[in-house]
Amino acid sequence: MATLDGLPPLRDVIQRFDLAAKKSLGQNFLFDLNLTQKIARSAGSLEGVTVFEVGPGPGGLTRSILALGAKKVVAVERDSRCLPALAEVENYYPGRLEVIEGDALQTDFAALAAEKGEGGPVKIIANLPYNVGTQLLVNWLVPNDWPPFWQSLTLMFQKEVGQRIVARENDNHYGRLGVLSGWRADSHMVFDVPASAFSPPPKVTSTVVHLTPKAQPLPCDLAKLERVTLAAFGQRRKMLRQSVKSLGGEALLAKADIDPQRRAETLSVEEFVVLANNL
Ligand code: SAM
Repeated sequence: MATLDGLPPLRDVIQRFDLAAKKSLGQNFLFDLNLTQKIARSAGSLEGVTVFEVGPGPGGLTRSILALGAKKVVAVERDSRCLPALAEVENYYPGRLEVIEGDALQTDFAALAAEKGEGGPVKIIANLPYNVGTQLLVNWLVPNDWPPFWQSLTLMFQKEVGQRIVARENDNHYGRLGVLSGWRADSHMVFDVPASAFSPPPKVTSTVVHLTPKAQPLPCDLAKLERVTLAAFGQRRKMLRQSVKSLGGEALLAKADIDPQRRAETLSVEEFVVLANNL
């Protein structure tokens, strides 16, 4: 069967390189190149852009990113079994794909961007391994140096995680992740991907989330923001005067001009920042 890019169909690649999916590595592969194309397109124009990808696996999304004209893809993959399959993609797009064998959680992406980005725009696009996806997102959101090295993040998550990332006040999914991402970035869910699109299918629906960094996030100390959100959402059904008691309770809330009878879920991101700044 012909493919969009002339490379072999992904099912053949998986068979030829014996890439049986490993659960421990969060491997749920996408075979439909129209779908991977749609994910890559959600990142906006890729012309002249260096794309960082985490977990290229057999290379479906990687191929779509390259076909859409990215200047270069730098992909970090932990599973060495995938490297020969990715070498075929490298040969097909000479000089435009660099695969780094390693653990994305241990990778200094900012340093990599300085080294590989050639001063141009960098975007991150990934169908993330679910066991490390949230931690990677947090790593990309917390650096002191802001704006960050990335121009956008286009990431696949379990839908429930996606809902927590984009959630704001008065939403059941609102919590620490929503406050952190709302402080540093603008985000939205782009489209859902049914479990049946993956091989093997995960238990739940997935969703693609797109984030862009806020140019000037409100000044705030991350450690303090984490302390207030941990306390407030740790007892999310309780009134704030109770849930943030250990941080100063009513006195702290008075300084921040926040009604002590409110609950964590009703506070906007900006109000959490004010609370943190009064610690
Ligand atoms: N991009 C491929 C696709 O869309 O079909 C594969 C996505 S699969 C959900 C996740 C990929 O991340 C796998 O290839 C897995 O080996 C890789 N992976 C898992 N943990 C990793 C880590 N800590 N660092 C880098 N890659 C990792």
